[in-house]
Amino acid sequence: MSLEELQALERRAVIPTYLRNPVQFVRGEGVRLWDEAGDEYLDFLAGISVLNVGHCHPRVVAAIREQAGRLTHVSNLYYTEPAMRLSAALAESSLGGKVFLCNSGAEANEAAIKLARRHRSGGEIVVLRDAFHGRTYGALSATPQEAKQAPFAPLVPGFVVAEKRPEAIDAAVGPSTAAVLLEPIQGEGGVLPLDEELLRAAREACDRAGAVLIFDEVQTGMGRTGTLWAYEQTGVVPDAITSAKALGGGLPIGALITGQRLADTLQPGDHASTFAGGPVACAAALVALEICSDPQLLAHVTAMGERFAAALEELPFVASVRGRGLLVGAELTPGTSAIELARRALLEERLVINATGPSSLRMEPPLIVTESEIDEAVARLGRLGP
Ligand SMILES: *Cc1c(COP(=O)(O)O)cnc(C)c1O
Repeated sequence: MSLEELQALERRAVIPTYLRNPVQFVRGEGVRLWDEAGDEYLDFLAGISVLNVGHCHPRVVAAIREQAGRLTHVSNLYYTEPAMRLSAALAESSLGGKVFLCNSGAEANEAAIKLARRHRSGGEIVVLRDAFHGRTYGALSATPQEAKQAPFAPLVPGFVVAEKRPEAIDAAVGPSTAAVLLEPIQGEGGVLPLDEELLRAAREACDRAGAVLIFDEVQTGMGRTGTLWAYEQTGVVPDAITSAKALGGGLPIGALITGQRLADTLQPGDHASTFAGGPVACAAALVALEICSDPQLLAHVTAMGERFAAALEELPFVASVRGRGLLVGAELTPGTSAIELARRALLEERLVINATGPSSLRMEPPLIVTESEIDEAVARLGRLGP
């Protein structure tokens, strides 16, 4: 179908929650996408932080095909090998406790919020300014952004917003706190890394109050920052993390991963989801997790991230670059619109990037991105400059 035909269908039949760009993608491979006319794009957003292994990674595709031809669904009242193996691999890769599988980032955070409330009944969840944890009611209540929350009030009670200062976190956490939930690098907020001092303050406040520290690694995990999980670089170990986005190598899946202490906090009947731990998504995730755990790939992420940041800093319209590894934010000089730049990058230079605010860009290429693809992306951006 042509783009115009799709747009007509959208106008007629699609609830208009998304502002789509006028591009139709029909195929992807590695860092590249193609539209229906056969034009090639560089995907420096990796879907939306999902294709860390690249589009249609041959090993992920093979695992999906194999599993899809064998068994696509049974309920969680029975055993399947992919779900058990993935849970073990995820726990072993991080906090060593146990795993609840689900289908998305918001759902992973919902599970984390329920875990926190099981840990301390009726307790408050402390979240940080500029956070993003998802769009379902619990996750939305943990996302202190006026435009996203206000139309949908009343929200879930018991969420407390703290400013991103150690003293503010310290003051917000007390005997009635169940959990502090935070992203080690705030992704949707504009690629805003939290400093170690802040994370340490959160750890200490939780320890003092008997609350649990949960890192939302939905965007920062799966190798994005140069280690499998971002917390590994912070010097702070959380009590639980959530994962999704890149976990399934392109398929929808999420996970709550706990440390030993919280491994049996949720009990039979406390939580469930029909599709959670589905064999096809888990088979894909097992491969994606193995690829993203490769130390050579992780070293590559750090090297490519440094090359990318250094090249971006040379662009005349880039004021500063933030982030870690291949989670990259660029603050633009006053007068440069990030939204306009992202739009022109797509339509004029066939470069897929994203604006997280009026003056900041977010770029997250697949982790397999090469030096020449980084250089090509920066050259394309450079051609848009003043
Ligand atoms: C994208 C994102 C979510 C929400 O994930 P969905 O799969 O869209 O529900 C939650 N937390 C963070 C940090 C994210 O980046």
